Amino acid sequence: MPVIFLVGTFGLFGLIIGSFLNVVILRRGARTVGGRSGCLSCGAPLRWYDLVPVVSWIALRGRCRACGSRISVQYPLVEASTAVLFACIGASDLSIPMQIISLIIIALLILITVYDLRHTIIPDEWSYTFAILAFISASSFAIGSGWTGIFSLIIAGPLCALPLFALWLISRGRWMGLGDAKLALGIGFLLGQGTGLFAVFFAFVIGAVISVCFLLPYSYVRARFGITRLGAGGAGFTMKSEVPFGPFLIASTLLVWLMTIYGMPIPFLNIT
Ligand SMILES: [Zn+2]
Repeated sequence: MPVIFLVGTFGLFGLIIGSFLNVVILRRGARTVGGRSGCLSCGAPLRWYDLVPVVSWIALRGRCRACGSRISVQYPLVEASTAVLFACIGASDLSIPMQIISLIIIALLILITVYDLRHTIIPDEWSYTFAILAFISASSFAIGSGWTGIFSLIIAGPLCALPLFALWLISRGRWMGLGDAKLALGIGFLLGQGTGLFAVFFAFVIGAVISVCFLLPYSYVRARFGITRLGAGGAGFTMKSEVPFGPFLIASTLLVWLMTIYGMPIPFLNIT
């Protein structure tokens, strides 16, 4: 099939799944998925033309048709990112079973990212489902390289979780949440030992760059003008109290994972 057709089909499918993921995030623990959607402020029911992924949000300029209250930019962003990532899988030369597992993994990682941003919590069942799917997707390669490959895969998850678990233990949960260590388990299974550890390391680099460029000035300004204290009890800036680490782990993982799917060399590692 021509690549442009696959990109279009997977992208459109991603828009639909993305809009479903928004509903899952919104309703987790509150209601069961299903039923009619309404405005969160005024309860006005949404028409079908208000529910077209990305397009409706832009057409409404991010405001409710009935009451004019803001509709979070989360909705179009989740839909667009799911579409782009699905299209990347569609254009890859992965086998169809691997593509299906990859799409589910992407959906889970997007769920975890947004949930962690909103609530600074990563639901265990999502991390563990990700770990299981990552293990399954990697095991098809591991089995090909015999017992050493299988053993190497089995320890890849705990190996990548170990540094984050240690940070959680040492800081008693102040620098790092235990949820981040559970998430890294799946990252290790998905990417393997060396590449997985690189992705965890690179998450700290992304986190540091974003914190210094955007979040540090922001919290300084807030503290300077008395809007809030800079860290609890004058403890200063900590990644745990200010920003969830899960989104950085996932951004790094998706980048490194797509690079390996497309056969691009990972910096500092000799494997492709
Ligand atoms: Zn409204």
